[in-house]
Amino acid sequence: MIFSEQEVLDLYHRNPEELCRQAEVLCRNTYGNKVYLRGLIEFSNYCVMDCLYCGIRKSHSAVKRYRLDHEMIMAIVRKGYEAGLRTFVLQGGEDPWYDEAYLCRLLENIKSLTRDQCAITLSCGIRPRHEYRAMKQAGADRYLMRFETADPELHQYLRGGVTLKQRLQALDDLKASGFEIGSGFMTGLPDEKPDSLIKNVSLCKELELDMVGIGPFIPHKATPLAGAKQKPLSEALYAVAMVRLLLPLANIPATTAMGTLEPDGRERALECGANVLMPNITPAEFKKEYLLYPDKICLEESGFECIGCLSLRCRGVNRELSFEIGHSQSFMNKGVYYADKKS
Ligand code: SF4
Repeated sequence: MIFSEQEVLDLYHRNPEELCRQAEVLCRNTYGNKVYLRGLIEFSNYCVMDCLYCGIRKSHSAVKRYRLDHEMIMAIVRKGYEAGLRTFVLQGGEDPWYDEAYLCRLLENIKSLTRDQCAITLSCGIRPRHEYRAMKQAGADRYLMRFETADPELHQYLRGGVTLKQRLQALDDLKASGFEIGSGFMTGLPDEKPDSLIKNVSLCKELELDMVGIGPFIPHKATPLAGAKQKPLSEALYAVAMVRLLLPLANIPATTAMGTLEPDGRERALECGANVLMPNITPAEFKKEYLLYPDKICLEESGFECIGCLSLRCRGVNRELSFEIGHSQSFMNKGVYYADKKS
C-alpha cells in the first residue's frame, strides 16, 4: 500500500496509534521480522563546526579530543567482521585531518580485509564533490548526513551559518557519486514551528532517501541550548512511523538517542517501523568522549556485548537481529548497486 502525504498527515492527527501500527505492518511486509545490525565506529570527535546543539562542537573546550588512526580502525573492523558484522559505519565530526588520501586508503584496506563482503557507511560531513567520488571508488557504499531541520532559518541559526541549501547540495553531490544516501532530522528542537515535523518528514520523501535517521533532541548542558525544554519521545516515534509510510523501502534505525530518552525507546521505535540497530563498537575509552547529547547509554559496554542485549530486546518485540549486509530495498531497486559492481 502506498500512502500519500495527506493520508499520513490525517492519520497522525486522527489516530497516531493506528499510524504506528500501520507503519510496523508495512515494515514487516518489506523486511520481515529482520532488524539489520550496523557496527558504529566513532573515529574522531574533532570537529571544525560549532552546531549549537552538539556536545562535541568546537567551542566545547572541556571535551577530551581523540582521533583513531588507521591501525586502530582496522583492528576494530577486524574484530567486528569476526563477530559477524557486515556493515561498518565510520562516523566523525567534520575533521579535515582525515583527508581524501587517508580515507581512501582506509576504505580500500577495509574492503580488502573483509574480502568485499561488507558495506561501509561514512558520516563525516560536507566535503568537496570530488572527494565523495574518490571515496565511493575506494569502496564506500553509503553516506549519512542528516539535514536536522527542514526549516532554513533554524538550520542556519543552529549550524553556525551553514545553510540548508548547502547541506542539500552536499546530499545531491553524494547521490550523483552513486552512494546509498541517508539523512534525517531531530525532533523537538527549540524554536521549531508547529509544522516543522511535517516539513521534516516531507523533505525525507522529497529526497527519496534510502536511509532515514531520526533522533529526539536532548539538550546538552555544555551547549548554548542547555536550557531548552526536553520534548517527549513520542514525537520521534511518530516521525519514524510517518517516514516508514512514505518511504516503505528505506532503512530506518531505532537510534541510541531514543534509548537514551526512554529505556525501551529503541524497542518502541521498532514497533513504529524502524528496522536497524547500531551497536557502538568504538572502544569504551573513546566513546565516552563522543557525547553529542548527554547521558548516552551503552558507554561502559564494548559494543560487542551490546549485540547480545540488542538480540534480547528484538525478541521482546517479536523481531530477530540480522547480520546480513542489509542494503535498503529502495537503493537496490534503483539498480545503482549492481551497475556499480559490474563496472
Ligand atoms: S553536529 Fe556534527 S558537524 Fe555539528 S558540531 Fe557536532 S559533530 Fe560537528
